[in-house]
Amino acid sequence: MASALTDKLSRLVKELRGQARITESNVSDMLREVRMALLEADVALPVVRDFIARVKEKSLGEDVLGSLQPGQVLVSIVSKELAATMGEGVSDINLAAQPPAVILMAGLQGAGKTTTTAKLAKHLIEKRKKKVLTVSGDVYRPAAIEQLKTVTAQAGAQWFPSTPDQKPVDIGLAALDYAKKHFFDVLLVDTAGRLAIDEALMAEIKGLHAALNPVETLFVVDAMQGQDAANTARAFKDALPLTGIILTKTDGDSRGGAALSVRQITGAPIKFAGTSEKLDGLEVFDAERHAGRILG
Ligand code: GDP
Repeated sequence: MASALTDKLSRLVKELRGQARITESNVSDMLREVRMALLEADVALPVVRDFIARVKEKSLGEDVLGSLQPGQVLVSIVSKELAATMGEGVSDINLAAQPPAVILMAGLQGAGKTTTTAKLAKHLIEKRKKKVLTVSGDVYRPAAIEQLKTVTAQAGAQWFPSTPDQKPVDIGLAALDYAKKHFFDVLLVDTAGRLAIDEALMAEIKGLHAALNPVETLFVVDAMQGQDAANTARAFKDALPLTGIILTKTDGDSRGGAALSVRQITGAPIKFAGTSEKLDGLEVFDAERHAGRILG
């Protein structure tokens, strides 16, 4: 794989060629370049440390030192490890529940929850032939409820009304009851986000989770969020049993290091990637392609 990192490592190796032999400390120099590449891609520091430790162990096992092209061998180990970490356990949305299967959408405001809710509705209708209902529990922003109404119609799904004077749990239960009575296969629950993590927000979404018993609890995270994505992911993971991640805005110009941070911190698989503002901009997450992008 040709990447900026491969070029850097090749240059480093050329410099090393002048020396009698390649030593373990030379591999450490190469790993330092890998570390820089990951940090440049905005992977969180503790995640980088962990990752480098794993790569170091693997590279000792694969005899990087004895190979003719140590730089290439190391880059190949790094990309394989990246793809394996990010791709582990990837699967489509789990609907193995007594219908209606409830899917809870969690994440910060602006992450792309509402848009992604409609994208998922469209995916489930078109690819899985499901009857889908959406509902918004965002009682703080009437505009968010309206936004969900609009995009749900565009997705060809049905929308359940809610109003700012209601409690989110009551909204969720009313929508669930309606979905049962009208034989919906899936209920997608969009939730309120905040600009930053706060206790009230977490308590509220935990309450929704307890009341609705979702089969999927999806953490929606902006690929452009960089280092902050790690803290956000930790807070949501501590509050909720996350079953999957959707990485939005992968069409932006970030190198998308957030994917590795969020995957490693939550332990949940990255199921989909958002690739545009449009409702068909949702793709199954491709870990290998994303690994190449992180390495630059
Ligand atoms: P919410 O506050 O989490 O519900 O976020 P929204 O769904 O309102 O999305 C915030 C902004 O991000 C909107 O302008 C969306 O059009 C945009 N957005 C969401 N997902 C994507 C994506 O995958 N790519 C791009 N380019 N924009 C996105």
